[in-house]
Amino acid sequence: MKTKELIDLLNQEVDRHREELLRIREDLHRIPELAFREFFTTDYIENYLVELPGISSYRVSDTGLVAELTSETFGKRLAIRADIDGLPVTEETGLAFSSEHPGQMHACGHDGHMAALLIAAKILSQHRHLLKGSLRFLFQPAEEVGKGANLFISKGVLQDVDYLFGLHLWTPLATSLVGVNEGALMAAGDFFDIVIKGKGGHGAMPQETIDPIVIGANLITSLQTIVSRNLAPIKTGVVSVTSLHGGNSYNVIPESLTLKGTLRALSLTDMEFLYGKIESLTHDICQAYGGKGVVTFASRPEAYPLINNPYYAKKIKKGLQAGLMEAKSREIEPTLAGDDFSQYSKTGVSSCYVFVGSGGLTKDYPHHHPKFNVSPASIVTAAKTYLHAVRLTNMVESDDERAG
Ligand SMILES: [Zn+2]
Ligand SMILES: [Zn+2]
Repeated sequence: MKTKELIDLLNQEVDRHREELLRIREDLHRIPELAFREFFTTDYIENYLVELPGISSYRVSDTGLVAELTSETFGKRLAIRADIDGLPVTEETGLAFSSEHPGQMHACGHDGHMAALLIAAKILSQHRHLLKGSLRFLFQPAEEVGKGANLFISKGVLQDVDYLFGLHLWTPLATSLVGVNEGALMAAGDFFDIVIKGKGGHGAMPQETIDPIVIGANLITSLQTIVSRNLAPIKTGVVSVTSLHGGNSYNVIPESLTLKGTLRALSLTDMEFLYGKIESLTHDICQAYGGKGVVTFASRPEAYPLINNPYYAKKIKKGLQAGLMEAKSREIEPTLAGDDFSQYSKTGVSSCYVFVGSGGLTKDYPHHHPKFNVSPASIVTAAKTYLHAVRLTNMVESDDERAG
């Protein structure tokens, strides 16, 4: 089959399944579940896949599912990942298919990822004769808490995988665009807790105390200079103090003060730089005032930026440019948001993660907002994007490509 015919076939198949695709998304939107508790969701995926010829699925953990589709023609193995968890958010969209689980919501678009991958799997199972090599579908739990990818990796889901592809519906990007980056796409991120220990006492006799609040005020100001004065202006990073707790009275200087916050960077070197500076400023400033500061980081050895394999990402970008009709694929700037897809790319497998634009509804709310929603057209594009990623590595070579 010629490339053009193959492209048309895949796009037409998604269009033909549009109603079913959107219905699956609505079904899944109704039953959001939190990280590692995606029981109904996993059952739904399993029940859908069991009907598809040639696809076998199995569980490697309590929630989440892995499925395989193997062809008779020798070729590469491509793994495709969709995340499946919702968020602890109370939905306020007013949609007819709103969450039926109180306090839980698909407020990040993972319902759309699952629906798009399920329809892609159905179409691929129906056109198995066009495939070469094999496909592994990863319905991964617990992305929002950053732990699902590592669990899946520890269960061996990347075994014998040549390529890995993933996507995120992305409302900051217009629905007619797909964003690809041939390098760092998302940041390494981590959280910090800082405890400043001073010496409490009477508010009218500060000379008898070591005031942790004054130390904290100085420390916060100094932490803001890491990115503005220490990190080279051409580099990207962020240090934000997002919580401050200490004392509960008008005339008592408290014993201690606690700060919380986040740090992000697009490279491991810059991330290590931020870690080091937060530690040394905390230590030095607290000591200068006679107090003591202790910093802990939530996931220091694991924090890693999401970096696409440049060769594979270039191939994907070109393939999407040729394959997508209603959306344009183009180079996109990295973001300081994070995704645990980075844990897969960290292993060295040739991986590519793209943003499928989902903005342009009458009013867009940010990801994780109670009124967050994705456009139906973007879910259609997501399904096509999955299929074109498969076409690039796992479909019987077309006549014109072979000639070229
Ligand atoms: Zn999210
Ligand atoms: Zn997400």
